[in-house]
Amino acid sequence: MEIFHISAECYPVAKVGGLADVVGALPKYQNNVGHLVRVVIPCYDTKFRKENKFECIYSDTITLGSFNFSFNILKEKTDKLGFELYLVEIPELFDRKDVYGYEDDIERFLSFQIATLAWITNRNEVPDVINCHDHHSGLIPFMMLYCHKYEKLRNTPSMITIHNGLYQGQFGFDKLYYLPEFDLVHVKVLEWDNCINSLAVAIKCAWAVTTVSPNYLNEINYSANGLESLFNLVRYKSRGILNGIDVEVWDPAKDAMLSTNYSIKNFEKGKQENKEKLCNLFNLDPTKPLFSFIGRLLEEKGGDLLPHASALALSENYQQINILILGSGNTAIENQLNDLLSDYKGNYNTFIGYNEELAHLIYAGSDFLLMPSRVEPCGLNQMYSLRYGTIPIVRRTGGLRDTVIDFGDDGNGICHDQATVGDVCYSIQRAVNLYKDKEHLNKIIKIGMNTDHSWERVCQEYIEMYKLISNKK
Ligand code: ADP
Repeated sequence: MEIFHISAECYPVAKVGGLADVVGALPKYQNNVGHLVRVVIPCYDTKFRKENKFECIYSDTITLGSFNFSFNILKEKTDKLGFELYLVEIPELFDRKDVYGYEDDIERFLSFQIATLAWITNRNEVPDVINCHDHHSGLIPFMMLYCHKYEKLRNTPSMITIHNGLYQGQFGFDKLYYLPEFDLVHVKVLEWDNCINSLAVAIKCAWAVTTVSPNYLNEINYSANGLESLFNLVRYKSRGILNGIDVEVWDPAKDAMLSTNYSIKNFEKGKQENKEKLCNLFNLDPTKPLFSFIGRLLEEKGGDLLPHASALALSENYQQINILILGSGNTAIENQLNDLLSDYKGNYNTFIGYNEELAHLIYAGSDFLLMPSRVEPCGLNQMYSLRYGTIPIVRRTGGLRDTVIDFGDDGNGICHDQATVGDVCYSIQRAVNLYKDKEHLNKIIKIGMNTDHSWERVCQEYIEMYKLISNKK
């Protein structure tokens, strides 16, 4: 099959979170089993763009309402990522450092989508399937169905994969004129809650809807930031497919970002050496259990619980545990976390920011990984931590429920039900007790390290879904 993935992120080209990891891995595994896979993302000003060679394979001009933009499609020359990578170059809109967070994000991602479709329509061949990811490519299924310019793609199946339903790309009908011409009888399809809602449009128009875990699909039927009833309506074409992880990038035996490589055969020694490096860097005590957090410091991740829970756990276990936080997001949370630094010096530290290398070292050198999320469509951190022999402590929600089972039920981690300081601290206390029983601890670590979360198995589920919708042509 010829498969297009259209996304805002792709690791290692441009990453903000899990979306990048998935779009950097799934296509590679699809390619490995014989499909022709092309990934299309905007051309940001990133290290990858500067350090790799690209050729321009298509140039054109698009209009966004009354604005004209020239764009180029750049193809990475060597297919070094294991699939064909295409960057949509629109310098005025994307030649910037960050992926998101600009006032003109609506104009940026609409232009990206329109340029992508202009190129795909102008090719001689028609793809077998177009897999869109999140709201940044959510208007594509609508445009393929209804915009006159893309008539050629009318019978091409489209699928929307939802990595995070909280973000929906809404904008007012005053920007309707940005869209290429279509018959206005279809305008209602764009509407959700008096706005144009890019994610809702994708859910309505795509031939299939997938979420990144089965449990998240169940949850969004009653909690989806206003889209619950829509998810109920499209249940017949929806499926929850649990994310995999790229076991080549995330391999403690080969990971170049670690201080020492290790496998299930020598994890005790290997993890301790990484822990010592980490503790050295952050002035922590390598003889005590290390609890870490990696992620966006937002309420959806339970980031607001971390300052209070850390303070409580550290005082209840005075000098008996370490806590290390890596992340950024809400400034108030960042400040509250930093306010604890002086009180718990030697057992607590933070790194406010984004640091891929440090994340790898933390997965390897920690004993426990905290994920008190309120919302977690799949969550990759827990799968990375399992593979690196670090026991995840998770709130039972979304994909965390699908991947982590409490050790009390012979599972691979520690689970709690509520996103509260009390539940987080109770789980930390159970972890402190478990840490004292090395035999039991190592047994749980081994269960985690042996879990198979590779994409090989999962990528087949995507292909089945594509075949299913192709049969409806
Ligand atoms: P999200 O909702 O943020 O996408 P996921 O669990 O799906 O959450 O994926 C998060 C990805 O981003 C993981 O690869 C994680 O290691 C990485 N990550 C998150 N925050 C940071 C950070 N501050 N520094 C480095 N990596 C980070």
